[in-house]
Amino acid sequence: MTTKTVIKEHRLSGGGSRFKPSPNHGGTFAQNKADSIVIHFTAGSSFESSVNHLCSEKAKASAHLVIGREGQVTQLVPFNTIAWHAGKSQWKGRTGMNRFSIGIELDNAGELTKNEAGHYLSWFNRVYPPDDVFKGTHRNQSHVSFWHAYSEQQIDKTFAICQLLCEQYGITEIMGHEEIAPRRKTDPGPAFPLEKLRQSIHTDRADDGADDIFALSSQKVVAANKLNVRSGPGVDFEAVAKPLFSGKKVDVIERHGEWSKVEYTQTGWVSSRFLRSQ
Ligand SMILES: [Zn+2]
Repeated sequence: MTTKTVIKEHRLSGGGSRFKPSPNHGGTFAQNKADSIVIHFTAGSSFESSVNHLCSEKAKASAHLVIGREGQVTQLVPFNTIAWHAGKSQWKGRTGMNRFSIGIELDNAGELTKNEAGHYLSWFNRVYPPDDVFKGTHRNQSHVSFWHAYSEQQIDKTFAICQLLCEQYGITEIMGHEEIAPRRKTDPGPAFPLEKLRQSIHTDRADDGADDIFALSSQKVVAANKLNVRSGPGVDFEAVAKPLFSGKKVDVIERHGEWSKVEYTQTGWVSSRFLRSQ
């Protein structure tokens, strides 16, 4: 029987988690705590190789946690200390998200390519069976692509640890690296259920009786004569559908700064400035 995982002195304790210190970290967070979590994939070939890489001084990178495909966890940096996982990044008017966030790396090969023989290959040329391949459209792109699927144990563990971190530190937001550095990064990619994770987090902090502070879905109405629908959150992203006209009802399923991802018969990003409540 495994013991329950808890956080003691900013480290995971119990549940089989290990601590292996990385030299790649900054000082402590302001107020000794982060207020958000950033999810990543390692794009590496194995859990151990990624842990070792993030513990080597020359990598100049780290994360608080690495979660493996069997749900194994190694912590590299205490939760009150700044780790180096986000790089150049911005979110809701703040830059350098390392200063505000806990970084979680998931062992995953990242994007795969399909070769002429129909095999799915990682960037380091390993072949993955079709069962391990997720086919989907990345939030920052408009074409279908192939991604290494996450394992169920890994997703379960990630959800449980995020819940624990939210309870312990009052985390208010969970983002993907691809959202805070959309030009440079594609992790954790479409294979990771980021919306589900956000919706799964329950806190008892809510003022209005609702216990789900991450619920984003809300109906809005287009308040512009012609509103462009783009593949990503910004005017530089290409249009992916016919423009929306005034009065069209859409569901907001995600937000990124001044941009909203909306769902109707299609999905795409629009400027939030041209959406109003019903
Ligand atoms: Zn990343």
